[in-house]
Amino acid sequence: MSTHNKEIYPVIVIGGGPSGIAASYHLKNKGIEHIVIEKKEMLQTWKNERWDSFFLVTPNWMTNLPGIDQDLPYNNEYMTKDEIYSWLKRFMDYVNPKYSEHTDIERLYKEDGLYELKTNKGLFKAEKIIIATGMFNQPFIPPVAEALSRSVNQFHSIDYFNSGQLAQGGTVVVGSGRSGVQIALEIKTETNNNVYLSVGSMTPLPTIYRDVNGVYWLNRLSGYKAGKSILQYKYDDLENENIKHKISQNMFSCVASGVKLTGRFMLGRDNLIEFSDNLCEVLDHGAEYLKKVEAQIDNEIEKSELELPDLQVDFDLKTIDCHELDPIMFLDVEKDNIKNIIWCTGFKPDYSWIDLDIFDTFGSPSLINGCSTKEKVYFCGMGLQPDKETKSSFGVGLYAFSESAQRAVEALMRG
Ligand SMILES: Cc1cc2nc3c(=O)[nH]c(=O)nc-3n(C[C@H](O)[C@H](O)[C@H](O)COP(=O)(O)OP(=O)(O)OC[C@H]3O[C@@H](n4cnc5c(N)ncnc54)[C@H](O)[C@@H]3O)c2cc1C
Repeated sequence: MSTHNKEIYPVIVIGGGPSGIAASYHLKNKGIEHIVIEKKEMLQTWKNERWDSFFLVTPNWMTNLPGIDQDLPYNNEYMTKDEIYSWLKRFMDYVNPKYSEHTDIERLYKEDGLYELKTNKGLFKAEKIIIATGMFNQPFIPPVAEALSRSVNQFHSIDYFNSGQLAQGGTVVVGSGRSGVQIALEIKTETNNNVYLSVGSMTPLPTIYRDVNGVYWLNRLSGYKAGKSILQYKYDDLENENIKHKISQNMFSCVASGVKLTGRFMLGRDNLIEFSDNLCEVLDHGAEYLKKVEAQIDNEIEKSELELPDLQVDFDLKTIDCHELDPIMFLDVEKDNIKNIIWCTGFKPDYSWIDLDIFDTFGSPSLINGCSTKEKVYFCGMGLQPDKETKSSFGVGLYAFSESAQRAVEALMRG
């Protein structure tokens, strides 16, 4: 590995996930020499950080990647963890990037006009840098977790794989995003032990609206245009187990399966867990928010003259009447036999290793169209960054990550 020290790369890509590999694809297309630096294993987030029964929330038509896009059917099915990993591996084999795995960057800084990466495998130097380390890469567990009794088995969702790893007894799942819902539902169905789902706040997206996947609408409302054709659901999709199983996983099915909803996880001290008493308000607020989003979508459809047929598929997606719930506010770890807490509380970014003046006052990278405004450092895979000029198709979803990598490479060529 010390051979890297002698070389000055035109570009170093940091992060060997889908975005980093897509950056390599676009760099190769432009004939720009580069290396991808990955701190663990290439594609490790999809190999190691998803539970066994994981499904994507984005359907296949929003997931295809350049170069291998003919290989994936343009349909409304959702890939499982194994499918997405092997498909991403195919993408990696196709791109065939030069990379260095298990390379831990202690510091990225500038010296004599070049960027230097001080790593456990020596010094790497480059003229330009692409950062593709994921939008949020550090699992976040709130500090309230620390004061809880040691008898409770606590872990983040990235360390949950299946219900077999849980201690016998009740489980509290904290966070009601798609991860929390999928995990709570699975544990309840497989163990039949008590499962509590703590709902913090809610800004829900429709799973499906006007027969189109909710993630597409999120992107559309964020300024993206329809570069690729939209795929609507049709009645046949309701016969497809893969699709039915996925779209029926929501908070209503949690309640119907016996998962108990609680308010926000407020406090954990020794044996006591306390939840806020505003569950009903949170659910009502979520329902109102959803209505507003749907009105915005209707407005967008009208404004952009998007033609959607009148025929609507009846998905029969039920919602919860919070007044029928009787949420608990306290749990006693011993008396209520609580053995596990799974924190589905998301991720935070970690840029502590970047020693460059490229951040705003809040510590976030200063970006325009996803690219750094200072230095020859370009970010990709940063989620919703509408680029109205290039009329990007999607803001999230793997296809969008590739578009974001393409933008970074184009900016890098101009810079
Ligand atoms: C639970 C969950 C569900 C998701 N579901 C979907 C979905 O349904 N559809 C969808 O499109 N997207 C989904 N996503 C988002 C998904 O993460 C992205 O689609 C995609 O993986 C982002 O790719 P990326 O390469 O930008 O980031 P990542 O996949 O996070 O890859 C970043 C890579 O950078 C490496 N890295 C981090 N820091 C450093 C460093 N300092 N030095 C070197 N390497 C570093 C990491 O080890 C990692 O390999 C989901 C994410 C999560 C967490």
